[in-house]
Amino acid sequence: MHQYFGKCGCGNVVVQFSSRKEISSYTSRKCDCDYCMQRGIEYLSDPHSQITLIAKTPLKQEKQGSEQATFLLCAKCQTVVGVGYLNEGVSVGSLNVRLLDEFDHLQKSVVVSPKTLGKTQKVRRWRELWSQLFAK
Ligand SMILES: [Zn+2]
Repeated sequence: MHQYFGKCGCGNVVVQFSSRKEISSYTSRKCDCDYCMQRGIEYLSDPHSQITLIAKTPLKQEKQGSEQATFLLCAKCQTVVGVGYLNEGVSVGSLNVRLLDEFDHLQKSVVVSPKTLGKTQKVRRWRELWSQLFAK
């Protein structure tokens, strides 16, 4: 497994991405909704990878749009560190890859538009695309 690390703006939250593939083989995704665009978030996930979020103070949770997914923020600096979906006790999620030290090594990002999907389609997409998510 490859391990990649990063942190939020103030250092309160450490993020870890563990994957079989090298980070340079991934393309980040920019979501075109207002929430993500305003914050300049780029997402990374892979169903064969794990995202771990380690926060010194508990992560802040926010919902927006269709309110199905939960955005996870640093409670201190308000950086969005990732987004998750809790399903039958298993959490899946996507990482704000801009926080990783190795961000520069990713392929050029692509723009995606999940807001055009229906509720069922969204959940199906997350199950296919997102990583296992662990928040501590
Ligand atoms: Zn922070």
